[in-house]
Amino acid sequence: MLAGLDPEQRSAVTAPAGPVCILAGAGTGKTRAVTSRIAHRALTGEISARHVLAVTFTARAAAEMRARLTALGVAGVQARTFHAAALRQVRYFAPRLLAGRAMPELLDSKVRVVTLAAAKVGLRTDRAAARDLAGEIEWAKSSLIEPGEYVVAAAKALRDTPHEPAKVAEVFAAYERLKRGNGVIDFEDMLRAAVWGIEEHPDVAEQVRGQYRHFVVDEYQDVNPLQQRLLAAWLGGRDDLTVVGDASQTIYSFTGATSSYLVDFPRQHRGATVVRLVRDYRSTPQVVGLANAVISQARGAEARLRLELVGQRPPGPEPELRIFTDEPAEASAVAARCRALVDGGTPAREIAVLFRTNAQSEAYEKALTEAEVPYVVQGAERFFERTEVRQAMVALRAATRSIPGETPLPVAVTEGLAAVGWAPDAAPAGGAARERWEALAALVQLAEEYAATPEVLPVGEAAAVERPVTLSDFNDELARRAAQQHVPTVDGVTLASLHSAKGLEWDAVFLVGLAEGTLPTTYAKTPEQVEEERRLLYVGITRAREWLWLSYATARSPGGRARRPSRFLPQLDRSGGAERAGTGAARRTERRRTQVVSCRICGATLLAGADRKLGRCPTCPSDIDEELYQRLHEWRRRVAGAQKVPAYVVFTDATLTALAERQPGRVEELIAIAGIGPRKLGLYGETVLALVGGAAVDDVCPEKTFKIES
Ligand code: ATP
Ligand code: MG
Repeated sequence: MLAGLDPEQRSAVTAPAGPVCILAGAGTGKTRAVTSRIAHRALTGEISARHVLAVTFTARAAAEMRARLTALGVAGVQARTFHAAALRQVRYFAPRLLAGRAMPELLDSKVRVVTLAAAKVGLRTDRAAARDLAGEIEWAKSSLIEPGEYVVAAAKALRDTPHEPAKVAEVFAAYERLKRGNGVIDFEDMLRAAVWGIEEHPDVAEQVRGQYRHFVVDEYQDVNPLQQRLLAAWLGGRDDLTVVGDASQTIYSFTGATSSYLVDFPRQHRGATVVRLVRDYRSTPQVVGLANAVISQARGAEARLRLELVGQRPPGPEPELRIFTDEPAEASAVAARCRALVDGGTPAREIAVLFRTNAQSEAYEKALTEAEVPYVVQGAERFFERTEVRQAMVALRAATRSIPGETPLPVAVTEGLAAVGWAPDAAPAGGAARERWEALAALVQLAEEYAATPEVLPVGEAAAVERPVTLSDFNDELARRAAQQHVPTVDGVTLASLHSAKGLEWDAVFLVGLAEGTLPTTYAKTPEQVEEERRLLYVGITRAREWLWLSYATARSPGGRARRPSRFLPQLDRSGGAERAGTGAARRTERRRTQVVSCRICGATLLAGADRKLGRCPTCPSDIDEELYQRLHEWRRRVAGAQKVPAYVVFTDATLTALAERQPGRVEELIAIAGIGPRKLGLYGETVLALVGGAAVDDVCPEKTFKIES
């Protein structure tokens, strides 16, 4: 294990018990170092994996951590989000702390109650307004601010409040009253309950701290004061804590997260082992170069600690910047490229399309469906809200009565799903039927993964008892995931927001909708908010191992209002290297030209002469007929030789390629190929059509013909 690490990573892995802080850029192996540290300590017997609590911020990142730990041969570590860890703790202790009263229901969204609360204080709100108010309340609660403190705190934090601060405070207070009156709690209440359970109940504290002795927080730059307080409660003054983060990837400050805990960690923990990493193992130097270029423009507190990444991988393709006339065109080009990547052997699960807001997902779902590319939308509602999944969960509950407990879990799940008409043979034809089949297949896959790495072992003593997981365990797990919106991975292209992509990586990444107003969003008003948007782009870029595509559409819908490219994009040349584009005049010409020719594969506008001739982007997959190309090439060689002219005078390489790709069968098709005008048509038209039709070079090339013509 140590052999797969660089010296700095190794020093983090082998650091003695106590505070450790890894401050490093994207893709430098922070997560690898931290999972290796856990594994190393567990495998050398220094600690027991059962006593480790590893927290991160998204369910997918937690799953990624578990997968990496499993790969390192370590089982039993709790790797969870703060929410999941807190929820589990609260559920476990609720009977004791509530003296038999039922645990309050957990609100999965604040919006409905906020709407009621706003109405109570005389504010009429639509859904968007209610969401803004909910966001404000969430910020306050995550920042440990009570309704009575809100006005002052919001002013101090320069919040751009959706209403007068005093009015927001009123809504906040009404919201809290309504919740209490209705016996419901929100996510922040749940975290507070976890803190309260420990801080106010010595027996709870003792049990929790007995269970969890070694703590790891990944993505620590995004911890908020409430989560930090929970972490402190868990620790109870102990210091076996490893934190890992990158201030340049702070992207949740609008919800109250702050990188200050990360940045101050070495000062707060005297004697901490501090490790800095700059070698980027994830991405090609091309991707790393673009990431460095974007973050080098960053300003503000988070930018002070930034490090320039040094790419370690062999070179790869240049990132591509694509401009489209409208969003549907952008989406179908992305889908076409995904299709081409998949056809070319890239697994769909190694591709991601990332956007700023979830609403952008729709267009890509549609385009991918049309291109018959499987996809998964990250962010969950979709999966567990699906009718077939809900029905399947009911069926699986019922199946616990008939299926013997010792049946291996995947078998039990497959049997249980027969009740909803699912069978493990091939997926049926037809879009909706296939989607349904795939959703249920995902449940079986989930069961397989879950049987391999169960994570429902109850807190406390029972955790030590190893037993195979049963269908009931799995049903509980499904319910838990449904509550937490955790999507199982199926083999599909990931559609995800930039926020939820943190910590993850894919071979190919599409960053779409990079227009002003979307990234940065129009809602980013203060310089700090704009900087956070820049960091979002940085996070997006650094997700790519090899292929990176950045695109935007000049209008939302065909013929719509014009938009400008995101200010964060360095001016890219046509092929996308982070170079300065030409003068203003040159760029205007390019823009004028963009009206004319677009790539027949992906639909992107083609700016360079050679690409326009080719009729596709140089990087778009070629459907060239190699054998035909060879014949055309040989024919051109002979013609040029006979005429004593350079080959390109006959036809350029781009024209030959276009001929071999498009294989024109008629004169009209031939003349449509750039580089073939009336003169060339007259000279070579017939011959070229004969070659395309399969003629051999010798047949069309009696040398004298050309001698006469020349
Ligand atoms: P992020 O900031 O995006 O969370 P990270 O710093 O956590 O990134 P990792 O995800 O741990 O980075 O690592 C990035 C990639 O580089 C992973 O595929 C990992 O396996 C690989 N990697 C990390 N360290 C090394 C190493 N020493 N040698 C080879 N590959 C490495
Ligand atoms: Mg990471």
